[in-house]
Amino acid sequence: MQNYHPKKIFIETTAREYPLTRQILDYYSEIPVEEIKNPRQLVHQILQQPDPITYGKQFLLISRQKARFLKKCPGTRNYICCGYKILNTANNCHLDCTYCILQGYFNNPLMVVYVNIEELFTELREQFAQHPNKFYRIGTGELTDSLILEPVTQYGEKLVHFFKDYSNAIIELKTKSVNIDNLLGLKHNRRTVISWSLNSDLIQQQEEALSPSIDERLAAAKKCQAAGYWLGFHFDPIIYYENWEADYFKTVEKIFSVIDGKNIAWISLGALRYPPSLDGIIRQRHPESPIVYGEFISGKDQKLRYFKPIRIQVFKKMVEWIRDFDPSVFVYLCMESSEVWKKAFGWTPEKMSTLSRLLDERVQPPAFKRG
Ligand code: SF4
Repeated sequence: MQNYHPKKIFIETTAREYPLTRQILDYYSEIPVEEIKNPRQLVHQILQQPDPITYGKQFLLISRQKARFLKKCPGTRNYICCGYKILNTANNCHLDCTYCILQGYFNNPLMVVYVNIEELFTELREQFAQHPNKFYRIGTGELTDSLILEPVTQYGEKLVHFFKDYSNAIIELKTKSVNIDNLLGLKHNRRTVISWSLNSDLIQQQEEALSPSIDERLAAAKKCQAAGYWLGFHFDPIIYYENWEADYFKTVEKIFSVIDGKNIAWISLGALRYPPSLDGIIRQRHPESPIVYGEFISGKDQKLRYFKPIRIQVFKKMVEWIRDFDPSVFVYLCMESSEVWKKAFGWTPEKMSTLSRLLDERVQPPAFKRG
């Protein structure tokens, strides 16, 4: 995997004086820098390019988060979500997986890092203090890959350090990268889950070609296990193809050949799904990818999904394999209906609050008392 190397860095004037800005500029000392008052015009210019998504990733925007950092995960209507909170520290990702939902998500195609991290910590401190009996399961990997810029920003390191002091919160750093070396020696009190997005080897090579291999990701997970972290794994998106069964089984087998189930906070499963607007973007940007040529239906949230019997078959197999290796590992479905849960798993959490509580309980310290 190549580390991110922008062609040019833009700094919003209001982000100029933050220590993290200085740190990023020191790291990229050879790269031209331009200060701008407002990125609106720059974004407008990039959006005029024939492929603004590819073009925009070449530029890093150092910005100040002006909205709240912590938000509810938008989830999806009519399906069971997991009650996650998103911490918006950066936007976009240069790994460019063919199916990446972010391709259709942002009006701003630049890579963005928010440098006002002290304001982020103030916001979290206040939030946690106001609700000491509420448990916060938070992740940074929804609008970017959590560790993709770790060598540059050490955002993950700063978050591990911050969260170690809170018994009513946990941070999940979700990644496809292997940028974990600076996290290994840190004191973390098991208040951080380091998670990897996994797939079959074939899908990794075909659809995630700029990312580390599955073996490399699991080798990084093994190091984090030795450092005492909680681990998470996300099979999302699972892609259905002729030989999916043998290939995905191999990845499940690989996990349990190097990871002890008692260190796994959770494994999630989610089948390929995307808004119709992404279909044209994938066909245009990744014409070699076969993933959009499967048969799909429009779900209750209008996203294109595999037919229900296929989703049930895939989830059923996956959970059986995982349970055969270790029945104590908590497996959940990302954005699925109660019916699919029941048919694939034999039970359903019915509603978001139940799934949310079960996930919280996996990682709550014994002393935590829910209000
Ligand atoms: S690693 Fe994640 S965020 Fe980055 S391109 Fe792939 S799917 Fe998108």
